[in-house]
Formats: sequence, C-alpha cells, structure tokens
Amino acid sequence: MASKAFDMIVIGAGPGGYVAAIRGAQLGLNVAIVEREHMGGICLNWGCIPTKAMLRSSEVFHLMHRAKEFGLKAEGISYDLDAVVKRSRGVAKQLNGGVGHLLKKHKVTALMGEATVPAKGKVTVKTDKGTEELTAKHIVLATGARARELPGLEADGDLVWTYKHALVPPRMPKKLLVIGSGAIGIEFASFYNTLGADTTVVEVMDRVLPVEDAEISAFAKKAFVKQGMKIMEKAMVKQLDRGKGKVTAHIEVGGKVETQEFDTVISAVGIVGNVEGLGLEALGVTVDRTHVVTDEYCRTGVEGLYAIGDIAGAPWLAHKASHEGVMVAELIAGGHPHPVKPESIAGCTYCHPQVASVGMTEAKAKDAGYEIKVGRFPFIGNGKAIALGEPEGLVKTIFDAKTGELLGAHMIGAEVTELIQGYVVGRQLETTEEDLMNTVFPHPTLSEMMHESVLEAYGRAIHI
Ligand SMILES: Cc1cc2nc3c(=O)[nH]c(=O)nc-3n(C[C@H](O)[C@H](O)[C@H](O)COP(=O)(O)OP(=O)(O)OC[C@H]3O[C@@H](n4cnc5c(N)ncnc54)[C@H](O)[C@@H]3O)c2cc1C
Repeated sequence: MASKAFDMIVIGAGPGGYVAAIRGAQLGLNVAIVEREHMGGICLNWGCIPTKAMLRSSEVFHLMHRAKEFGLKAEGISYDLDAVVKRSRGVAKQLNGGVGHLLKKHKVTALMGEATVPAKGKVTVKTDKGTEELTAKHIVLATGARARELPGLEADGDLVWTYKHALVPPRMPKKLLVIGSGAIGIEFASFYNTLGADTTVVEVMDRVLPVEDAEISAFAKKAFVKQGMKIMEKAMVKQLDRGKGKVTAHIEVGGKVETQEFDTVISAVGIVGNVEGLGLEALGVTVDRTHVVTDEYCRTGVEGLYAIGDIAGAPWLAHKASHEGVMVAELIAGGHPHPVKPESIAGCTYCHPQVASVGMTEAKAKDAGYEIKVGRFPFIGNGKAIALGEPEGLVKTIFDAKTGELLGAHMIGAEVTELIQGYVVGRQLETTEEDLMNTVFPHPTLSEMMHESVLEAYGRAIHI
C-alpha cells in the first residue's frame, strides 16, 4: 500500500496536539493528526472543561444557599446529579466538535485510529477500516497521560473512582474519601463536599495543594475545614478493603494505622504518561518514569521526533501543552521560537475558594538564595470583594529585593484563576515592582488587590 506523505504528523489531538497541528498548517505545512479516541484529548473530554462545568453547578448551588445574604429568596434548594453531569458532558461534546471543525478549517488531515512509530519518519495508523501508512520528516508525540493507579488502590468504577468515573458518577457519594490533594483531588473534593458528601481528603505530604505556597495551602485548608471537609495531612492510604457498598480504608497517620469506612473513594494520586505501544524503545527515545525526556525545544534526541504536553512531563497543564505545540510547529516550519519557560506557567485550581499561582513560592525563593520582599493583601480590604460577598482570600507577591523582579505571585479567593494572568503578563514582560506600582488598576475590581499586594511589599499599601 502506498504511504501518504506529510510535512508533519501529530499523534494525539489533545490541547498539545491539535494546537500544534493548527499552528503547523497556519505556517504552510502539510499536516496530519491521528487521534484514537476523542478530539480535544483529556482536557476537553475528561479534564479541564467538564470539571469546570461540574464545579460551576456546585458554585451556583452554594450561592443559592446564600440567597438571603443578597436579599433574595430561594426555597427548596436541591440538585439533580444526572442533570449536572448531562450539562457537563454537553459542554465537553460541544468543544470536542469544535476541535474537529477547527482542524478541518485549517485543512489538517485528521485520522481516527491508534498510531505507532515503526521507524524514524514513519507512522502506522490502525483505523476501523484497516491500516494506513504515513510518512513525514517531523513527528510530534502528543499522546498525553492517564490516571496513576497505585497497587491495591486501583479504580473499579463502582466503589473506587478515577477522575473519569467521578465525572460520570454512578451515584452521589454519601461518605467520600479523596486520596491526593493536588488540583484534581481538591476540585472533586470541593464539588462533592459542596453537594453534601461527607468528604475526607488524605494527603501524603505535610499540607494540601502541596505545590502551592505554604501560606496559601494553610489558607485553603482553613477554608475547606470551615466548609466541613476533613483533611488528613502526612497521611497515607495503605489498603482498601472493598465490601458490599462500602470500602474500609486503612490510613497511616502519625505512625499508626486507623480504619475508616466510606461508600466511595476517588483516587487522585497523579498521572502516568501514555508512552506504551508507540515503539519508543526501538526508536531509542529516552523515557523516564513514564515521561519522554526532551530538551527545552521538545526534541527527543531522535531526529525529527518531538514530544509535547503531558507525555513530556510537568507541569501537566493544558496551556503548557498548547504552548509547546505552537513552539514545536514554529521550529519545524523553520522559525526560531523561544523555549517554553515552565516557571512562567500559571497553575490554577478551581476549588472554592479558587487558587492560582505563578513563579516561585516564598520557600523556593529563599532556598534559591534570593533576598526577598513579600507583599500581602487580603480580600477583606477590597471593595469589589465585599460587594460580591467574597471577603475570603489573599494575594501574595514575592519580589527580588535587589532588582525588583516579580519572582512569584500566589492567590486564593474568588476568581483568582482569572486574575493570575495579570502577573503572568507582567513576568513575560520582565516587569519590576516599579512598573506594577505605576500601573492604574480599574476600580472597583478584584484586580486592585494585585496592585495593593505589590504596594504592600514596599510598605505603600493604601487600604490596609
Ligand atoms: C480531571 C482533570 C482536570 C484537569 N483540569 C485542568 C485544568 O483545569 N487546567 C489545566 O491546564 N489542565 C487540567 N488538567 C490537565 C490537562 O487535561 C492536561 O494537561 C492536558 O490534557 C494535556 O494535554 P495533552 O495534549 O498533552 O494530552 P491529552 O489531553 O491527554 O491528549 C492526548 C491524546 O492523545 C490520544 N492518544 C494517546 N495515544 C495515542 C495513540 N497511540 N494514537 C492516537 N492517539 C493517541 C489520546 O486519546 C488523547 O486524546 C486536568 C486533568 C484532569 C484529569
């Protein structure tokens, strides 16, 4: 069978792959993309988007309970879990269809099937109808990742769920155990706790949201506990005994193992890269703990083979995947793009209250030897936050005392996932405290706290 020739073949149509394909096509490359399951990848189908749709429902539910505070009446407040899930799946479907449309619009050849790379420059695709052979000088691996399964804690879809099950739950959990307090674990804990599940979160590290600044973790923990969640830190789920409709969890904490019963467990203990079955070993690609090792330009070391997004390692975020996709397409098209700077990629968690950050934590800045200036501004000092009924939160900024460089920004509170981009732009433009202090922020907005936090670092805050 004759093989079809392309300039660039992308394997995987998640936010890394489909963005790389579109950018490649924009730059005049003849591009093919292969996807085995769903256009849009985990992000649109089982990650970023459907979780945010679910969390929007729990947020509205929460606000309905607060109706009286706003002078409103809401009686008989309830929810229909199936309808919440239906909305979330509908949102995912809408966006999934949108990706197909965008690829078509950019004249990218899209193939549904499982791809392997039998040799440099070659891709074999197993489709419903048979096998197709493709060739290209440049191949981009964008096959993403899936939930990590720990021995004994494997998901069964009934009592023990991964994120996929938690997005299409067979029932509403009454007593829920969430294992892992990274973004995924905490978002599900927040959703189910708000809808009334008695929720316990077990975290092996010494604090929830362990990659965040310690002060933000502590703030978050206090808020979660106030909402009724139980948080167990420095604790490890050693074993799950599955019975009829219940799970007995053996949790090691403080050197002792205690047992607790739950009707549902969500395992959110990280992800593993989809590196199997691609033929990577034979190609000589280096894989380290399920992730393809690349240089800063996402090159694997095998000529013409690149890896982007989750398969290429942390941070495991959609916007990192997409940006790498753009960078690689530009490189392939003969451009001179800048490598992606992981330290300038913001992380957002859409729990209640929301958490967002970019750059170094205070501890990391100190460890790196910086002399720092730290600014803090609480939501309670901001007019818009009070008008919104959202006085709970904090904006923390960390500067290099010598140069005024914004080393890191850490936020917790309403809509901080929308606000953080202001600091991201600042960092991209290599802004200093001076520029930020001289910037006029509109009033009344939550963004004024970003200004005040900078002012506070230099003893100039006005509203505290
Ligand atoms: C519950 C949850 C919530 C999340 N929330 C957020 C969030 O709010 N913000 C954020 O930035 N990130 C979030 N993420 C992470 C985000 O989804 C990932 O970082 C992102 O999807 C990675 O994109 P990717 O293109 O690298 O891979 P993926 O999105 O995983 O896409 C890879 C694609 O490759 C396909 N594929 C794999 N192997 C083959 C093969 N051999 N042949 C053909 N196709 C193949 C897969 O079917 C898949 O569609 C979340 C993740 C989860 C699980």
